[in-house]
Amino acid sequence: MVAAWAACLCGHGEANSRTLLLLISKKATPTMSMLGFLKPPHLGWVVRNLRDALVDKLKGSPRRPEQARAYVEANATRGDPASVLATLDDFARHQRFLMNVGPEKGQLLEAEVDRAGKNARILEVGCYCGYSAILMARRLGEQGRITSLEKSGTSVAAARAIVDFAGLSGAVEIRHGASSELIPTLEGNFDLVFLDHWKDLYEPDLRAIEAAHLLRPGSIVFADNVGSLFDPKQYLAYVRECGHYESRSEESHIEYTKLPDCAEISVFLG
Ligand code: CA
Repeated sequence: MVAAWAACLCGHGEANSRTLLLLISKKATPTMSMLGFLKPPHLGWVVRNLRDALVDKLKGSPRRPEQARAYVEANATRGDPASVLATLDDFARHQRFLMNVGPEKGQLLEAEVDRAGKNARILEVGCYCGYSAILMARRLGEQGRITSLEKSGTSVAAARAIVDFAGLSGAVEIRHGASSELIPTLEGNFDLVFLDHWKDLYEPDLRAIEAAHLLRPGSIVFADNVGSLFDPKQYLAYVRECGHYESRSEESHIEYTKLPDCAEISVFLG
């Protein structure tokens, strides 16, 4: 339930309003992590998201990625990645919360993309609306490529349209399916891996990425939303203690909020 709650708010998947409603139902099992979201400093944000989810459910609104796609197509400039990102930021701040990386942690991610190089081969796990794929792809050269995995068919369709609108579909391939099924089908090394899907899948999926020999010494693994609110102990213990990574934490905030969050940036040692 914690993972669903966290993924609902800041990760990628099918959760959204369904999981928000589950949170307040009898099926929810409160934990310290979940209760952390319900403390006074966070409560306004939680209430806003619950309200928006309920309104959308009652109105039968399109799913959030579809709303974001329509907003981009109505307000952004076609072929301009910066305009598309700014429009998604505007949508997330003033229309409906979007569980992407956001502009603040986006700067951390951009620095790692630059470190990986213009011709980097990037694996993203959790595409959602395509925000981070666009953010990363716009920094790559002609040879740079992103493979992005996404379980939700709704998100895949919206993200492909938004990435195409940004003019970056030549650099971004979005694959539809569960990460556990897609990761073993991938081949070759990736210079950067960006994890931003279901939080309790970070550790098993990273192990699967290693088992598929998708990392080389020096590959960077960037994990979003590993602040304490997301109960990231299992993932952090793995990358910090398994001996295969040099890992550091970057303090930041949950996308589009002032709520504390962290990104974990780990370099694979082999
Ligand atoms: Ca995120």
